[in-house]
Amino acid sequence: MIPLAMPNLTGNEKKYLENCIDTTYVSSVGEYVKRFESMVAEATGSRYAVATSAGTTGLHAALTAVGVGYDDLVILPTFTFIASANAIRHCGAAPWLMDIESESWCLDPNIVQLEIEKKCEIENGRLKHKKSGCRVAAIMPVYTLGNIPDMDSFRDIADRYNLPLVVDAACAIGAKYKNENFGTLADLSVLSFNGNKTITCGGGGAVVGNDEKLISLLRHITTTARVWPDYDFDMVGFNYRMTNIQAAVGCAQMERLDTFIKRKREVQAFYEEQFKNLPITCFPTTDGSSYWFSGIVLKPGTDLAVAKVLTEKLKKKDIEARTFWKPIHLQKPYKDCPRSNVTLAESVWQRIVTLPCSTNITTEELKWVCNAVKEAI
Ligand SMILES: *Cc1c(COP(=O)(O)O)cnc(C)c1O
Repeated sequence: MIPLAMPNLTGNEKKYLENCIDTTYVSSVGEYVKRFESMVAEATGSRYAVATSAGTTGLHAALTAVGVGYDDLVILPTFTFIASANAIRHCGAAPWLMDIESESWCLDPNIVQLEIEKKCEIENGRLKHKKSGCRVAAIMPVYTLGNIPDMDSFRDIADRYNLPLVVDAACAIGAKYKNENFGTLADLSVLSFNGNKTITCGGGGAVVGNDEKLISLLRHITTTARVWPDYDFDMVGFNYRMTNIQAAVGCAQMERLDTFIKRKREVQAFYEEQFKNLPITCFPTTDGSSYWFSGIVLKPGTDLAVAKVLTEKLKKKDIEARTFWKPIHLQKPYKDCPRSNVTLAESVWQRIVTLPCSTNITTEELKWVCNAVKEAI
């Protein structure tokens, strides 16, 4: 079976893991955690990075740090992985779901601006969603597939309404925006190092940003809010630390970030070239995308059953292929959340088939996949 996205662990991973065991630094303190944090800060162009146990816990901590709480609303694209919405829910808040734009599959800033104008009012200096009476507490774009949307517009909107801007950058390590790293575009950006991401720690995450006070608070929240040296705690904190073992794998992975991104880009380009004469398109990419995942999009109007038949046909040829994110507003826990018109998300998700795109996939394997897709189409 040619897998969708396999970890590539042929660098220093084993050596650094052995070092953890030899030194007994296997837990949440250790040199690798510090080193990993500085590598992530540098790669994202941020002053600070705090490593966390997962992307989801990083999101929960980041939203908590910017003040999202009970009964609040957080603006979120409906086309995202469930973890983005779950992190909002874990704060006691709810996502206000909005549609995406076709060029990046990211939250559409024009829709966000129009929805706020139509559905909100300012009360005591705070933005209130009129129908629910809830406060709007943050905007949370998602860097879908490692694509970065028009962040200048999101910065304008956030400043206009005095809202924190937190980004779910889970799949965006290595992405660029106008030739620059993305770490300063939002107040906080959250990465994931789960096994299917471009860089993995086995599991893990990181929150990056430039605001020293905000990052200190975030570190405090993720490390049980302890006031050393005794057992004093000044808030309800979380145990969301990354362990030295996770960070050891992460350091070895980060050493090869550029190679991984280059290979991801080659895989995407290979599929684009091979499929250019078929009635399908490849995933959209923005300039500087990190090309986290590759795959194809079937013709407009095609429904999910067709995409499923295609994945089955590919499976028979020993190729792993899957459908992709089902929008949040169609998920049971979120079906009653406020939302904009979500036409594009509803049309797009049913037509997506992800294809193998591991960084260690061979050209022979890519050709095998392309031939199978051509035959099936
Ligand atoms: C992977 C992913 C997450 C979750 O990260 P975990 O590390 O698995 O908790 C959140 N959001 C998006 C968009 C993701 O792709």
